[in-house]
Amino acid sequence: MSSALIPTYARANLAFERGEGVWLISEKGERYLDFGAGIAVCSLGHCHPHVVKALTDQAHKLWHVSNLYQIPGGERLAHRLVEATFADLAFFTNSGAEALEMAIKTARKYHAVEGQMDRYHIITFEGAFHGRTTATIAAGGNPKYIEGFGPKAPGFDKVAFGDIKAVEAAITPQTAAILIEPIQGEGGVRAAEPSFLRALRALCDKHGMLLIFDEVQTGVGRTGKFFAYEGFGVTPDILAFAKGIGDGFPLGGVIATREAARGMTAGTHGTTYGGNPLAMAVGNAVLDVVLAPGFIDEVARKGLALRQKLAALRDRHPAIVAGVRGEGLMLGVQTHIPVADFVAAAREAHVLVIPAGDNVARLLPPLTASDEELAEGVARLERACAALTAKQEKAPA
Ligand SMILES: *Cc1c(COP(=O)(O)O)cnc(C)c1O
Repeated sequence: MSSALIPTYARANLAFERGEGVWLISEKGERYLDFGAGIAVCSLGHCHPHVVKALTDQAHKLWHVSNLYQIPGGERLAHRLVEATFADLAFFTNSGAEALEMAIKTARKYHAVEGQMDRYHIITFEGAFHGRTTATIAAGGNPKYIEGFGPKAPGFDKVAFGDIKAVEAAITPQTAAILIEPIQGEGGVRAAEPSFLRALRALCDKHGMLLIFDEVQTGVGRTGKFFAYEGFGVTPDILAFAKGIGDGFPLGGVIATREAARGMTAGTHGTTYGGNPLAMAVGNAVLDVVLAPGFIDEVARKGLALRQKLAALRDRHPAIVAGVRGEGLMLGVQTHIPVADFVAAAREAHVLVIPAGDNVARLLPPLTASDEELAEGVARLERACAALTAKQEKAPA
């Protein structure tokens, strides 16, 4: 039977029935190691018992009331995020793109409430990804995502990633903020230089602009820090998060300083579902695990070990693997062959990885993956490399 879904995705012919930690079990009963985690979403793996219990306990009590009433779980989650970060305040959304929309609006309103209505431009970077709404495709700047969808939303000025001179040249009296992923995810696990982020911070301070970090992919322990900004030693004014905070439940949000959020007063912004009791139960359960003493240090340790194993894989398969990059358990394997071929061969070897820009395959295993599971993933990638090499040797030159 042909699919009745609008075909915006070229899906693999593979459906899963169950998940257990780092493992996905297909309809045919085959077990796959999930090193994609639903694109950095399932931070605690599939069906983590503590999260399942929090979600089901809440499901028996109350799902949704709207933001017209107090939501104690949301107050608690906001306090915990604020206590663990630079921020003073939080807001919850259902997705990463909505978190970015909120971040963009917060930065613009910050200037508008001081009478600077024209100060709405935001400097963004080549290779960025910020979501698929009409504003966030303009912010991301990828022509493939923008073309055919009407006029590009105004106010996003794109410069080269890492080019501080270009940033300086792009600043005008209309510039409200700089928006950047400290490590580009979709762009190919490309980390900014710490000195570049420090220079952005200095420019923002000098010109009265806000620094926005998109940590939708890098956040909530993924890079071996609670948020990646800690590792760079650069603090933003506004930070968007999503993916890992929900472990698969649709949840995102923004944290900001009280100063940066000064324009976001009652009635200026809203969401029907964002921060509902089900989502808040899950977010709090995820933080119970991620903020437990030692958990994030373990992510950093396992990330280093995995990176070393991948470097050895590159040494054994230099015709396939070009390089390894990334932080914590957000790692990229750049390939000499088309990355889609590498991802397909990995899938054949029953390990799931995610293609990204710059011919990079992303490895984003659940943060709970054991040393043995991470080693097993590399062993499967090794089989994929061997199969690809055999294919190369068979192909006529
Ligand atoms: C995934 C992602 C988004 C968009 O999140 P959605 O939940 O798909 O809307 C935005 N920014 C970054 C860095 C992402 O990785």
